[in-house]
Amino acid sequence: MPVAVLPTDPSVPGAPVTAPILDALRKIVGDKGLILDEHDKQPFVTEWRGALVGQAAAVVRPANTAEVSEVVKLCHDNGIAIVPQGGNTGLMGGATPWPTHRGILLSLGRMNHVLNVDPVGYSMTVEAGCILETLQETAARHDRFFPLSLGSQGSCMIGGNLSTNAGGVQVLRYGNARNLVLGLEVVLPNGDVWDGLRALKKDNTGYDLKHLFMGAEGTLGIITKAVLKVWPAPKDVCTAWLAIRDPQAAIEILSEAYVASDDNVGSCELMSRACTDMVLRHISGTQDPLKADTAWYLLLEWSSSRPRLDGSAGMSEKMEQFLADQLEAGRLLDAVIAQTEAQSRNMWRIRESVAEAARAEGPGLSYDVSVAISRIPELIDKGLKAVLDILPTIRPYPLGHIGDGNLHFSFMGPKGMDRETLTQYSAAITRSVNDIIASMAGSISAEHGIGIEKIDELAHYRSKIELDVMRTIKRALDPKNIMNPGKILRL
Ligand SMILES: Cc1cc2nc3c(=O)[nH]c(=O)nc-3n(C[C@H](O)[C@H](O)[C@H](O)COP(=O)(O)OP(=O)(O)OC[C@H]3O[C@@H](n4cnc5c(N)ncnc54)[C@H](O)[C@@H]3O)c2cc1C
Repeated sequence: MPVAVLPTDPSVPGAPVTAPILDALRKIVGDKGLILDEHDKQPFVTEWRGALVGQAAAVVRPANTAEVSEVVKLCHDNGIAIVPQGGNTGLMGGATPWPTHRGILLSLGRMNHVLNVDPVGYSMTVEAGCILETLQETAARHDRFFPLSLGSQGSCMIGGNLSTNAGGVQVLRYGNARNLVLGLEVVLPNGDVWDGLRALKKDNTGYDLKHLFMGAEGTLGIITKAVLKVWPAPKDVCTAWLAIRDPQAAIEILSEAYVASDDNVGSCELMSRACTDMVLRHISGTQDPLKADTAWYLLLEWSSSRPRLDGSAGMSEKMEQFLADQLEAGRLLDAVIAQTEAQSRNMWRIRESVAEAARAEGPGLSYDVSVAISRIPELIDKGLKAVLDILPTIRPYPLGHIGDGNLHFSFMGPKGMDRETLTQYSAAITRSVNDIIASMAGSISAEHGIGIEKIDELAHYRSKIELDVMRTIKRALDPKNIMNPGKILRL
């Protein structure tokens, strides 16, 4: 479980929730939409890893946009701060109220309806509280594909995915969450409803407002609905687990895979041996796809929406030929192609269970960073050296969405070291990793966002101009600073 290095608690603004305000909230959302019991609030105010625990006077669960709007208007008029929340799987503490929060937590979980699927127009319109996996299944029932795919997909919600501009394992082909959206409906911090729920591929009518709210982590408004893009369903899929020479081989294999697959690379995930072993230790039912004399593996998936025709070379045949070529070139040491759905699922389960396994393994540190793809090997070399110089017994378990230049540069504490002791090293390690990232023109947060955890790091690494523009936007939309205050930026 990563050690949370919290910045100092800002004095979170906002008036307290008084008895008359509670009555007014109850009038809007009913008893069904209000949680006041301390025990029942706990899952909402505790972040996914259990490392941060905040508080909220009430958890408010509106059933529709009109109720969200009324709740926000009430809070705005009374200066009450709001923390929006979807599935509460975010890893930066954005959905967790500060311990000093006196306002409400607004959960979108009851707004979970798919409003429309348009297979001909390749779109679907959904409420923000829909679980990601439900949307993938809905698209599949219409012979369509919704590509956003994360380890947390059984519990994260689309409103949270868009608010974090989530990444995942299909970004290299389809882009991250903001690329999957045609339109949004948003409740603004004063309670007004902005209806941008348009299914338009082209719309050059001034500033593209929807992009302001995606990646804003609930600091500019509450996403209540979205029009999402869908794609043709994959019909011919080949998944392989590759033992490779080193990270340089990984990026060269990926570079050649685009052409060899006829542009059908769906995913390319780098796994270290240490990482795979950790999953095998903690996640029951997972099996090692391949053990070779190397520290590095790739999960490579090619998929085509064109069904395989009799006699023609499908994805598997093309992959086999490709792997033979890579073996010959010395980049590949060994490989296994999934022959059954179960084998493919096992490979994916290993990749997607890393966060769960890390939570079970013990205290650790994790950096979600990105650099230009071709510089990934340099980042791994420099980063490992720097961190091991500070704490030689720390246990690295790097992995990453390398097709996006995104490394989850992760470390478990030395065996036997407790959370408090590891925390004493975390500031130095964080600065050292992030300095390397900055020197390589990379990003200190590739896909998880800023939330609470990276506020100080964002302030340290982004330019004054960039931070000033962000603050200007925040103040313009939320002059009372009631919308998820103390997240991303200090004002
Ligand atoms: C096992 C596991 C694997 C993961 N894998 C990935 C991965 O591969 N890629 C990746 O990018 N992330 C990953 N994550 C992180 C997380 O799942 C994503 O950030 C996800 O998009 C968060 O969705 P959520 O519904 O849980 O949002 P929450 O955690 O509830 O909220 C996240 C942020 O969005 C805000 N928010 C939520 N809903 C709304 C709304 N409707 N309107 C406005 N603001 C809102 C919250 O205030 C908060 O700041 C993983 C997490 C876990 C636990």
